[in-house]
Amino acid sequence: VRAREEAADVVICGGAATGASVAWHLVRAGWPGRVVVIERDPSLARAATALSASGIRQQFSSPTNIRLSRYGVEVIRKAPALLGIDLGFHEQGYLYLAATREQERALVAAHRVQEAEGADVVLLSPAEIAGCFPHLRVGDLRLAAFGRSGEGWFDGLGMAQAFRRGAEEAGAIWRRGEVAGLDVEAGRILAVTLADGGRIRCDWFVNAAGGSGAEVAALAGLALPVERRKRTVFAFDLAERPAGRLPLMIDPSGVWCRPEGGLFIAGCPPEPDPAVEAADFEPDHHLFEGRIWPSLAHRAHCFEALKVRQVWAGHYDYNLLDCNAVIGPHPDVTNFLFANGFSGHGLQQAAGVGRGLAEWIIDGRYTSIDLAPLGYGRIAAGSAHPERAVI
Ligand SMILES: Cc1cc2nc3c(=O)[nH]c(=O)nc-3n(C[C@H](O)[C@H](O)[C@H](O)COP(=O)(O)OP(=O)(O)OC[C@H]3O[C@@H](n4cnc5c(N)ncnc54)[C@H](O)[C@@H]3O)c2cc1C
Repeated sequence: VRAREEAADVVICGGAATGASVAWHLVRAGWPGRVVVIERDPSLARAATALSASGIRQQFSSPTNIRLSRYGVEVIRKAPALLGIDLGFHEQGYLYLAATREQERALVAAHRVQEAEGADVVLLSPAEIAGCFPHLRVGDLRLAAFGRSGEGWFDGLGMAQAFRRGAEEAGAIWRRGEVAGLDVEAGRILAVTLADGGRIRCDWFVNAAGGSGAEVAALAGLALPVERRKRTVFAFDLAERPAGRLPLMIDPSGVWCRPEGGLFIAGCPPEPDPAVEAADFEPDHHLFEGRIWPSLAHRAHCFEALKVRQVWAGHYDYNLLDCNAVIGPHPDVTNFLFANGFSGHGLQQAAGVGRGLAEWIIDGRYTSIDLAPLGYGRIAAGSAHPERAVI
């Protein structure tokens, strides 16, 4: 029996935030090509997109990342007109706290880059922190950086679903299935094989497979230094909710915390931080008692009495080289486009990366944000383009 075979101009592996954004930007540009998105679980239940903290910030150390987030904010703000949905932007800012000289130096250095990019971020002395955020204890702090606008959190899953809806309405095709093989010949992806035996010939292939990005790259014999790393999120209730502006706070201990409706959510990177299996979503429960609660209770009286209501874990697609996304073509297999390795900041970059890859496919170059600094070339050369502000 001959396998079912069809043709597409672009096949996108992964239909969550990144893949849906690529599809939406392609069709929105009026591109006439046939776009097929292959997603093995259209519910996205285990996609990072659905398990994310959904924050967006300007406080990065790399200009490219700041530019990507600025476009992300633009899309969030214009979402009612662009995507027919209000993405519930809570523009409450990110507050990075520094307690050591090294942390202080890092905030000052990143702030220089952010200022040059026009980001609305200010540095605050301990007295200013106490003035702006009276619930915080500042005795051990040296400095803070606070994003006054263009930072906060939003409905990331809603954005992914709206990209999908808009893309489908304009002709993109969503197919439930698993990319199981890639035919490579003379430096090109010729076709994608699905686990159900289907085969799709294509001109372009986009790897938007999240935590499975390295496995998908390996189907074409390509190496990608990206691992699944588990991140656990704890949602809790406070006995006494503080008044005033409540930003997403990144404590010097590495613990982050922000309001989520009537609750708060918090997390921190585990130590050690091993690669995990695709099916491992067991939360690291010990992190709350061991690291998160002590850090938060140290930072503010209001965090002393709390009750955990919900816990979940998701996967970062963690780039071992430099904690930054890998975007664009493989130098030897030039119609294989990466959109991987977001290392915890991919939801806010989904819009900008989708636009960039659509430009690459349609125009053969990046016409808005130059994504070349995030290209695969640095992976091949082993030369990092580091992002220092990783949460
Ligand atoms: C706990 C947590 C907190 C986070 N907080 C933030 C944050 O505050 N801000 C931020 O910007 N980012 C954050 N992130 C990161 C962000 O969520 C991700 O970078 C982003 O959602 C990645 O989107 P994606 O579409 O690339 O990948 P995913 O959402 O992981 O989607 C990949 C999709 O590919 C599909 N797939 C994989 N392999 C195949 C295959 N072979 N065939 C078919 N389909 C396949 C999967 O089913 C999945 O639906 C966080 C992540 C986690 C886990």
